[in-house]
Amino acid sequence: MSGSRWEAPDGLYYRYGAALHDADDHSCQLGEGTQYSVLLGAITRVRDEEIERLSAAVDRVRNLHRPVEHRGRTICVECSGWGNGSTDSPPTVHPCRTINALDS
Ligand SMILES: [Zn+2]
Repeated sequence: MSGSRWEAPDGLYYRYGAALHDADDHSCQLGEGTQYSVLLGAITRVRDEEIERLSAAVDRVRNLHRPVEHRGRTICVECSGWGNGSTDSPPTVHPCRTINALDS
C-alpha cells in the first residue's frame, strides 16, 4: 500500500498544523501504513493541550478578579484596585463585568 496525501482544512491546519507536520500547502504525506487514528491522536493531544492552556489563562484572570470583603461588601480586587484594606478606585461589586463575561 502506498502513502496518500491528506489535505487539512484551513481551520484545522492553522490550529493543528504543527502536530501534523504539515507543509506550506496544508497537506501532509501519509506514509505507508499510516492510519488516520495516528492523526486523530495528534489532533486530540494538541486540542487537550490547548484546552489546558486556555483554562489556565481563564484561571489567572479569575484570580485577578477575585472577591474580597471590604467594609461589609463583596468587591472585586482588581477592578477596585484593592490592597491593604483600601481601594484605589471606587469599589466595584463582585462579580464584576469581567467575571460576568467569563460566566456568560
Ligand atoms: Zn473585576
